[in-house]
Amino acid sequence: MAKRLWMACALFFLCAGAASAQDAKTVLQAAQKAMGDVTSIQYSGTGHLNSFGQAWKPDDPWPVTNLTSYTKTIDYTSKSAKEDLVHSEPNPMVKGGGRPFAGDDKQENFVSGQYAWDMPKGTPVPQLGAAAERQIQIWLTPHGFLKGAMDDNPTAKKVGNATEITFHTGKYTVTGTIDANNMVTKTETWLPNPVLGDMPVETTFSGYKDFNGVKFPTTIVQKQGGQATLELTVSSVNPNPGLSVSVPDAVKTATAPPIKVTSQKLGDGIWFVAGGSHNSMVVEFPTYITVIEGPLGEARSLAVIAEAKRLVPNKPIKYLINTHSHFDHSGGVRTYVAEGATIITQEINVPFYQKAWAAPRTLAPDNLSKGAQEANFIPVKEKYILSEGDRTLELFHENGSMHNAGMLIVYFPKEKILEEADDYTPDLPELAAPGGIRPPVFMANLMKQIQALKLEVATVAPLHGIVVPFSELQKAASAGKG
Ligand SMILES: [Zn+2]
Repeated sequence: MAKRLWMACALFFLCAGAASAQDAKTVLQAAQKAMGDVTSIQYSGTGHLNSFGQAWKPDDPWPVTNLTSYTKTIDYTSKSAKEDLVHSEPNPMVKGGGRPFAGDDKQENFVSGQYAWDMPKGTPVPQLGAAAERQIQIWLTPHGFLKGAMDDNPTAKKVGNATEITFHTGKYTVTGTIDANNMVTKTETWLPNPVLGDMPVETTFSGYKDFNGVKFPTTIVQKQGGQATLELTVSSVNPNPGLSVSVPDAVKTATAPPIKVTSQKLGDGIWFVAGGSHNSMVVEFPTYITVIEGPLGEARSLAVIAEAKRLVPNKPIKYLINTHSHFDHSGGVRTYVAEGATIITQEINVPFYQKAWAAPRTLAPDNLSKGAQEANFIPVKEKYILSEGDRTLELFHENGSMHNAGMLIVYFPKEKILEEADDYTPDLPELAAPGGIRPPVFMANLMKQIQALKLEVATVAPLHGIVVPFSELQKAASAGKG
């Protein structure tokens, strides 16, 4: 009896599995018929674009910008896409990073197979790191989802009146929801992110309308890491416009540049570690090393850690000071945890990192996910002094920052050096943007803090740009050019 029951169960599950693949194709075919099959599509609209990873407070929405023009053209056959957009700063400005910027920011982005590039002022700039995401974005569109699923062994699951279809492309899993009217209402995948791990990317589609014989949503909302990155109100759709894209030679031959690390001695046992878009500092204490900032991701952190150990042999990295939670400044922090360092950061960031770092990391495992270390934090409220022997660092919470609510600045009282992130970005004269790249309110707030705390600054060590005398910051602040 037990054996027969077991056989019946086994048979049931086998049939259920087989039916699932069959159901998936049937549901996909019905959706393709209802939505209209296309080989290429172009859709345009307006809405909002958000600065991902640049929230003012860790759990806030990504800072919003106005998307005044947006057109996306996709050729599903050649796996190519082009995105044209113009966005601008809301008035009054919103809090957070990644912006503000002056006037309209115009972008032209491409993907074709494994290649991705941008076209600022008509010149191709390879975007090696963006190719996987731009490619997968093709399959996250309503018609793209149906095509991607049809070609890649889809499976189906009934959820109420809707069907959830799942397929795999490379290491990515894509799930879409098809409703009782045979319309794709949602697509979802997970992308690797240095801060958030396997990060959910959800796109919802609503207000389907007929556009020249093809059904297309009038509202598209994409969320990454749980917050909106794109809200689009679609005004026009052009079915089968074609897209001829040829990959520029400069893009075909591009390879990832090696990670460059340079160090500049600012005082006894104090080094400014640059060489890329984001800087760090290495500080020698009598029995240990403290590093200020773990930006970008693990590759950068490993290079900076190697440099720290070269500059200060035979001492452990005991502390990593994280200035703020923006992803470009915190993407490499986990590597320091794996290295055994305690993380010093403003208190609002601690619960955020604890939650973010607990997420699965199957898509891009890092040293911390492979090891067993626990993250230890020293939460800073308004002030913290890190001191051993004759070495002292003073950490202050930068109150009133429009850029980040939990911003820390670091002051070396003996050497009169001030470390700051994102308030002021001095650069070599030949590289400096006219008018500066930071809004004057950021610098004004930094100057206010320096005065309120009565810091006697002689040298500014910025986490972007170059080391300058304090007089440069004073000049820039009075001219309103950051
Ligand atoms: Zn920032």
